[in-house]
This record gives sequence, structure tokens and C-alpha cells, in this order.
Amino acid sequence: MSLKIYINGTLYDKEDAKISVYDHGLLYGDGVFEGIRSYGGKVFRLKEHLDRLWLSAKAIMLEIPISKDEMARAIESTLAVNSITDGYIRLVITRGCGTLGLDPNKCSDPQVIIITDRIALYPEEFYEKGLEIITASVPRIHPAALSPRIKSLNYLNNILAKIEGLQAGCIEALMLNHKGEVSECTGDNVFLVRNGGLFTPPNDAGILEGVTREAVMELAVEAGIEVQQIPLTRHDVYIADECFLTGTAAEVVPVVKIDGRSIGDGTPGPMTRDFIARFRRLTGR
Ligand code: PMP
Repeated sequence: MSLKIYINGTLYDKEDAKISVYDHGLLYGDGVFEGIRSYGGKVFRLKEHLDRLWLSAKAIMLEIPISKDEMARAIESTLAVNSITDGYIRLVITRGCGTLGLDPNKCSDPQVIIITDRIALYPEEFYEKGLEIITASVPRIHPAALSPRIKSLNYLNNILAKIEGLQAGCIEALMLNHKGEVSECTGDNVFLVRNGGLFTPPNDAGILEGVTREAVMELAVEAGIEVQQIPLTRHDVYIADECFLTGTAAEVVPVVKIDGRSIGDGTPGPMTRDFIARFRRLTGR
């Protein structure tokens, strides 16, 4: 049976789920999105994801034509019709169909799209052995130009860094901000461990405020570990005892090498392994 996709209140077969070529989401990357997980039939941190989606939309003056409650119900029914209990949910709101000019006022009908699909999990090896990554040469976009706190459909900045990573044989790449400080990876937030303390770049470092990042910071408080949100440099990554990434798809994944240098002893450290276990318990995996 074909996967059903929700567009503006109607469920379409995947093959028939189509958006106009005049949609400014396609023409200009004018829109916002979310990536969410469902574990054992329960949507993980739905409220946080919907809040972030609505704030991203507000920041670009895009009005989502349904309420958060309606969105939550639409997600539930799309998951149900596709019989997905453990999967990935992609919400996309585009500016809608307009003219070939930039003017968003000419777009009358924002499109609300819900895709629910099975998820291709990262191989368990990534969690056991850790990732090797590089620092991308392309910096994270300047927050004054387009805030990375907006999860917009314009992901070219991240894609350029991802290409650099892939060319070096790495599935993730570290991005520095306009000041040369650590911001985040192309689709994940970054944490460092040093002398028993946990560090992550602050909200104004050019990051998306990750829902997984927030969950990990809560788990740290529960575990009695101090988390410091302070500016970090590439040097801090090089001399860290441990490093891990957080994201909806990756969950908590260790990084053991960056730019050819081993982090700590080059294996996933004890705090990283502890957070992987804590996060799995949190999601019920
Ligand atoms: N940074 C970027 C640029 C991302 O795209 C993502 C994934 N959505 C994250 C960080 C991690 O955020 P979350 O934990 O909410 O998935």
C-alpha cells in the first residue's frame, strides 16, 4: 500500500502528493520545516517541535493556516493511516503558490505538508565506535543575515558543508560561525566534555536550538552534571576529553576524531556512553 501524505487536510498517495512549481517554497526556499520522531506510537517532544515551527514561521512572517492542536491531530491521523509507530515525521510549511517574483504577499495559500515515514536508523556501529568528522571551510550563515534559529527551507549553507564532509568521507561536518567559534554540525548540535563538565555553544552562536540538545541538557541536570553554554573554539574541540552530537535523526552519537585528531583516547568516552543510554531510556528504546 502506498504511503499517504497529508497536504492541507487531504491525504494523498505518495505518488500523487504534489506541490505547484510556482510555490515559493520551491522557487525561493521560502518556508519552514520540522523533523520529529515517533517512538512506540508516541510522538517525541511534539510540543517543543510545534513551538519551534510556529516561532520559525513567525520570524519569517508566515502564518500557519491551522492551529497547533489541529496540527497535532493531523500528525496523529497521518501516522495512524500509515500504521507507523516508530518513524520520522516531516512537517513542511511553504509560503504557497505565488508569482515568479519574490513578493510573498502574492502567495495566498501556504501549504501544510505532513510526511510520516519509516526511518533509516544510523548503523549501531556509529554509536559503538563513534564518528570521524571534519571542520567545514564554509562558515555557518551570519545570524544577522538569516538566523540559524529559524528552521527554514533554505538549507544550502548546511548542504555546502555536508558536501565537504562527504567528500572527506564523513557523514557530518563541524561548522564555525562568523566569529570563527563552534556553532553546530550540518544537522546536529555539538557537545564537548572536559574535566567532567559538559559544554555546548550558546543560542547566539549560530545554532538551531535543537530539541534533542534541550533534552540532553535536562538529562545532564538530572545526572548532576553541570552544563555550560559558552562560546567554544575549534581548539576546545581538539583538546576535549569527549565530543558528541545530538539531533532528531542521530539522537546522541559520539565523535572520536576531527580534522585527523583523535578526541580523548579516540573511543566514545564514559559520559557520552552514559548520555546515549539515558537518551534511549527517555525515548523508550
Ligand atoms: N542543527 C541543525 C542545523 C539541524 O538541522 C538540526 C536537526 N533538525 C539540529 C541542529 C538538531 O535539532 P533537533 O535535535 O531538534 O533535531
